[in-house]
Amino acid sequence: MSHEVTTHPVPEAFASQANLTPEKYREMYSASIDDPEAFWGEHGKRIKWMTPYTKVKDVSWNRDDLHVRWFSDGTLNVTESCLDRHLETRADKPAIIWEGDDPEDSHTLTYRQMYHAVCRFSNVLKEMGVKKGDRVTIYMPMIVEAAMAMLACARIGAVHSVVFGGFSPEALAGRITDCESKFVITADEGVRGGRIVPLKVNCDKACDLANGMVEKVLVVRRTGNDVDMKAGRDLWLHEIGADVADTCPPEPMNAEDPLFILYTSGSTGKPKGVLHTCGGYLVWASMTHEYVFDLKEDDVFWCSADVGWVTGHTYIVYGPLANGATSVMFEGVPTYPSASRFWEACDKHGVTIFYTAPTAIRALMREGDEPVKSTDRSSLRLLGTVGEPINPEAWEWYFKVVGEERCPIVDTWWQTETGGTMIVPLPGTSEMKPGAGSHPFFGVQPKLVDAEGHELRGATEGNLIITDSWPGQMRTVYGDHQRFIETYFSAYPGNYFTGDGCRRDEDGFYWITGRVDDVINVSGHRMGTAEVESALVSHDAVAEAAVVGYPHDIKGQGIYAYVTTVAEVEPSDELKSELVRHVRSEIGPIASPDLIQFSSGLPKTRSGKIMRRILRKIAEDSFDNLGDTSTLAEPEVVEQLIEGRQNRK
Ligand code: ATP
Ligand code: MG
Repeated sequence: MSHEVTTHPVPEAFASQANLTPEKYREMYSASIDDPEAFWGEHGKRIKWMTPYTKVKDVSWNRDDLHVRWFSDGTLNVTESCLDRHLETRADKPAIIWEGDDPEDSHTLTYRQMYHAVCRFSNVLKEMGVKKGDRVTIYMPMIVEAAMAMLACARIGAVHSVVFGGFSPEALAGRITDCESKFVITADEGVRGGRIVPLKVNCDKACDLANGMVEKVLVVRRTGNDVDMKAGRDLWLHEIGADVADTCPPEPMNAEDPLFILYTSGSTGKPKGVLHTCGGYLVWASMTHEYVFDLKEDDVFWCSADVGWVTGHTYIVYGPLANGATSVMFEGVPTYPSASRFWEACDKHGVTIFYTAPTAIRALMREGDEPVKSTDRSSLRLLGTVGEPINPEAWEWYFKVVGEERCPIVDTWWQTETGGTMIVPLPGTSEMKPGAGSHPFFGVQPKLVDAEGHELRGATEGNLIITDSWPGQMRTVYGDHQRFIETYFSAYPGNYFTGDGCRRDEDGFYWITGRVDDVINVSGHRMGTAEVESALVSHDAVAEAAVVGYPHDIKGQGIYAYVTTVAEVEPSDELKSELVRHVRSEIGPIASPDLIQFSSGLPKTRSGKIMRRILRKIAEDSFDNLGDTSTLAEPEVVEQLIEGRQNRK
């Protein structure tokens, strides 16, 4: 099978100023593997501790005694690293640049302002009765108060659970009850792409569904439109926050006390309440943020994710602030008011590092080069992606059109569970292969295994496992330690199973091929769906494609492709044959789709990932049992796909 992509060297101007060199990477990586105790003992000091740790790593991945502890006798409060310690040298440096949905609307908070705002917010939470260890659900639009709410919880030792503001009342209620959260922080309304999101209305419904679990709701005023306030339960932030003190002592926390719970996106099933703790998570967030993004003191860093995803936690809030960086927070969407929005905002704020998801890149690529080329973008020096495998087509466009071949691309593979980046082409350390996750971050030990757990060596493809712990690892599934063990440690005892498939090429680069459930086996050949999708998308007529396996009498599994055409092209039988030929020539006859269904959309999670498990069910004709669809962005798409499937017979 061919896997041809063009390899790009690190752009020279970038390489000459990069924090890392290939030698430095190798040296640090070896040190991190040869002596993790010494390596992390040293790098753990990058954050501020109240009581320094003397123990570094205390981990057992043995099923009978499974525990993960790092720096476990240290105490700290993560907000001291993110705020207090910057007051001496960076008090007037922008901590957060907020870009509103309306391009006219933006403002900046310095570290000093952020510090006092978080202290006030912390005092508000205390007045509401929030205590150390209480869970607080945050259901907010992308406004600075969302970041303040997270940090305020951390400051007083409460555990935040951020729920994406686009989720339904049912999804919110499910997450409130799962972690027994008595407190919710929300806003009157959100604004996204020019549209209003009725957050408080949704929150009220969720509180009803949660059957009296919620005792207090703190409401932030965003639009100022009228909303119902329930006496005794609901409080306005601007009222209760009017006369609280603007300092608040940080609560001493053990390194292993919980920092937050975050539910996974639900691409594969019922979302899991991933629990992260204070010490290891912050070390990992800040360390990966610095090295993955080649951070310099005057960078303006923009991660376009929502704080409702782990990407927003680690790379909008905790990583950048722990590093004293300037972090951009964006309320809107990439295509509003036009497809130039990202790049115009980059120009406006002088963004130097920009980090987004392949789904956004593909959506913008569809609009052509003009909306990009009409902007300057000369401040940009590094680009990143996360969330899904990026097809080489989209990678090349991002590299050439957006970054003008000047900016390296860091394709960061990681998971809610991993806390931060795990596999990445660290900028300046290696040539770039479009679509390749490339190399492990410090302390990360990937291995490829077959279904029975035998290690696969050399250039090969298999299931991706990690053989030893790293500080940012999740500690448990909240309230269900057994599910933690079953989900991650039962397939390959003694190892962490990522659930993802992966290929390693002749040069030792890692390529994530998609979820293991998405690896199909056609006549004994294993194939990542991402690969077939990427071949389909490289055809001019195709905007997006999703591929799944379905039972096939002869081959075991057949290849079923859902294809969305670009705006100018009508689906036709000729196009189907053409696409089959195209995939054959791109990958080989074994990858030829057996069935192609054209569709105007694909079922995606709210974070923009294609839910292949639903597509699999539809391809198998089992329409009744589609599983948890509460995290779908547009549930209608599913009906259309079922109809399309039924009509083809
Ligand atoms: P759930 O676990 O509930 O099914 P999810 O896996 O989509 O949801 P996340 O933790 O948000 O939840 O996503 C992590 C997954 O996203 C990874 O396991 C991988 O499949 C995919 N992923 C993330 N980044 C990349 C990347 N750079 N390249 C390839 N795949 C990626
Ligand atoms: Mg997952």
